[in-house]
Amino acid sequence: MNYEAFFKSELDVLRHEGRYRVFADLERKAGAFPHATQHAEGGSRDITVWCSNDYLGMGQNPKVIAAMHEALDRCGAGAGGTRNISGTNHYHVELERELADLHGKEGALLFTSGYVSNWAALGTLASCIPDCIVFSDAGNHASMIEGIRHSRAERHIFKHNDVADLERLLKAADPSRPKLIAFESVYSMDGDIGPIRDICDVADKYGAMTYLDEVHAVGMYGPRGGGIAEREGLMDRVTVIEGTLGKAFGVVGGYITGSAALCDFVRSFASGFIFTTALPPAVAAGAAASIRHLKASEIERLRHRDRVAKLRRKLDAAGVPYVKNDSHIVPVMVGDARKCKWISDILLESYGIYIQPINYPTVPRGTERLRITPTPLHSEADIDRLVSALSELWSQCALSRAVA
Ligand SMILES: *Cc1c(COP(=O)(O)O)cnc(C)c1O
Repeated sequence: MNYEAFFKSELDVLRHEGRYRVFADLERKAGAFPHATQHAEGGSRDITVWCSNDYLGMGQNPKVIAAMHEALDRCGAGAGGTRNISGTNHYHVELERELADLHGKEGALLFTSGYVSNWAALGTLASCIPDCIVFSDAGNHASMIEGIRHSRAERHIFKHNDVADLERLLKAADPSRPKLIAFESVYSMDGDIGPIRDICDVADKYGAMTYLDEVHAVGMYGPRGGGIAEREGLMDRVTVIEGTLGKAFGVVGGYITGSAALCDFVRSFASGFIFTTALPPAVAAGAAASIRHLKASEIERLRHRDRVAKLRRKLDAAGVPYVKNDSHIVPVMVGDARKCKWISDILLESYGIYIQPINYPTVPRGTERLRITPTPLHSEADIDRLVSALSELWSQCALSRAVA
């Protein structure tokens, strides 16, 4: 086989479909977020980021940076091993305590990313619990899907956020078999929110465990940033709450929280936990500082909500259509991969506005979009510039307008 020719022709298919991914070469500027420097062939220039998952700007929070500096100076660069073999640092232990407390659980377990936490925890639970059946929301993130697939457990996909469909599947399953329901709180592409209470009710009725991905909600919702389940007073009803340290908390890493026995079980059996080097202590220190800050401070969440509402009002006034939802995500639908990429390219080149196009397979074909994520740090002027740029491009691209 001509391997090189194979790689190139497969990439050509992606290019032809307009979904070949090009990374913007950015240099984030602590203190100036959401502004960044873009490095390109013609030189470098200032741009405004409108698609970051550092939702609250915690990546540049002075407390977070100071905690990371301090831990780096005390402990050095890396953890030095897997958690099992010399890698467990006091900062990891403290961070796990902080996480268990955040979600009102007995235990927490850190992973190197949210992806790994889903993949490893779901994979381990579903494969190690004898005869387990997994019920998975159709909109679940790739990391959950891969973990469930890897477990080789019997799995049923229920219609997105459809509790009646979930119940239909639960009812049809053997009552004596163990069951696990996997779903999310905030679904990141449409920004819609899962019916946690109703899912917990049917889970109780059929004796199922629940596994909730709160990746896009931790730090963001609830009086202490515990997520949607905290806001709704449901944390104690969910068996496992999973989250990331890389989005609203602004650092990197993932975790699960749950009972002491469940966390100990995953710790003891998950390959994706056991056989990989622990997070650097400085990362754990930064994440802990970020969580602590957001447990006590509401100002970021309040300002963030204000910015989201402002952007929506201005998009409405300009007639740029976006998907309405109850979260902080503003998906502007384009519905065509090439147009989506074209708009994104022009936004960056002509307006210095960076919004990555979201294409298949991240979203279904025909629902290609610009996923806009306002932060508390976007100014009124930033919002005005974005809306007027989008409005001009909507006219140029002959895209349909929302009727105000
Ligand atoms: C981003 C994401 C993850 C993975 O988290 P990382 O920390 O980025 O690896 C998991 N679940 C959902 C729903 C996500 O969007």
